[in-house]
Amino acid sequence: MAITKSTIPLPAEPDAFDPGRVVEALASVVPEPAALHEPEIAGREWEYVKECLDTGWVSTAGAYVERFEAMLADVTGVAHAVATVNGTAALHGALAVAGVAAGDEVIVPALTFVATANAVAYLGARPHFADSEERTLGLDAARLADHLERITDSRDGRCVNTRTGRPITAVVCMHAFGHPVDLDALEAVCRRFGLVLIEDAAESLGTYYKGRHTGAWGQLSILSFNGNKTVTTGGGGAILTNDADLAHTARHLTTTAKVPHAWDFVHDRIGFNYRMPNVNAAIGCAQLERLDDFVERKRRLAQAYAAALDGIAGVRFFAEPEFARSNYWLNLFLLDPGMAHCRDDLLTLCHERGLLARPAWTPMHQLAVYADEERMDLGVAEDIYRRLINLPSSPRLAPSGKVE
Ligand SMILES: *Cc1c(COP(=O)(O)O)cnc(C)c1O
Repeated sequence: MAITKSTIPLPAEPDAFDPGRVVEALASVVPEPAALHEPEIAGREWEYVKECLDTGWVSTAGAYVERFEAMLADVTGVAHAVATVNGTAALHGALAVAGVAAGDEVIVPALTFVATANAVAYLGARPHFADSEERTLGLDAARLADHLERITDSRDGRCVNTRTGRPITAVVCMHAFGHPVDLDALEAVCRRFGLVLIEDAAESLGTYYKGRHTGAWGQLSILSFNGNKTVTTGGGGAILTNDADLAHTARHLTTTAKVPHAWDFVHDRIGFNYRMPNVNAAIGCAQLERLDDFVERKRRLAQAYAAALDGIAGVRFFAEPEFARSNYWLNLFLLDPGMAHCRDDLLTLCHERGLLARPAWTPMHQLAVYADEERMDLGVAEDIYRRLINLPSSPRLAPSGKVE
């Protein structure tokens, strides 16, 4: 057979997408096997937990819970913090305190962890899914405003979905992977349509929007201290608010709504048993003492990933938006739009190298349980889902040295 030009293998184009090259770049930053996010227990956790065990103060009464709440208020700059058993319980409690009721609709991003939507459903309310913007990975305020303009009417001062007849009462935004949404823009939309803003800041402890900590914008907001978050209490969460009355209600509702009394059991609402135990809060106090160090190292790791992926065809490291100082809870990169079909191959290659990278959550409207809920066009959330890869992000993976 004659050798024709087409049978001669061409050298790989230097700027063509090569999954192997991407994985090599990642392995240059993290050469050893690494989980997505591991807790680091290297401060005073043992000491504080031992004190709980030695004194018998292990459960929901005890000094560490209050100390942990005071530390949270201090770190976030929000006046009141109410510690809970986990972030999902905090969301459930915050939505109840905000007055979300059965039959309401609540705007929730389609691209979020399932807890955001579940908490709405627990109250008999309905999640109404909104799209994200690629700039922040969170709610797109401008397109949400257009959507609400199109489908809602103001009736008796309430924002009503004319398609379902149900009131839309609140917006829950979520700071995805530690990067804040554009809170000023979202706050303006909430004000315009008379909606309560609640921040799911589960992933953004240590993240600032325009110099102020996330969780300080919403009427209420929540944090999570699950084992894979930036700061852990084993399991835990918190409700944050600047409003003393809401804080009081949040504490009451999450502690079985018991009326204070020396011995009598009287409960004036159907409350929840959501109070964080003292042992968990003890771990949390020790962890919070190290928050700055955790975030500093996570930012250094982000810088290393960014440098390693710089100039590699087909991928773009996701850097904090210009208005943010992010905790980089989970580092991530986006495949170029034409390369989405390579995502799973890339994930497989990463896992073969011991790098336990992950895709984003399946968008909520693609889950069978939420397939029939109201939604706007979710093209961006779907597109981000197809192109996003989260990278191992534990603080211990940071290269040594200092960054801003
Ligand atoms: C972690 C997380 C929560 C809460 O999770 P818990 O495991 O219940 O503490 C809620 N929303 C988001 C976006 C989260 O990432």
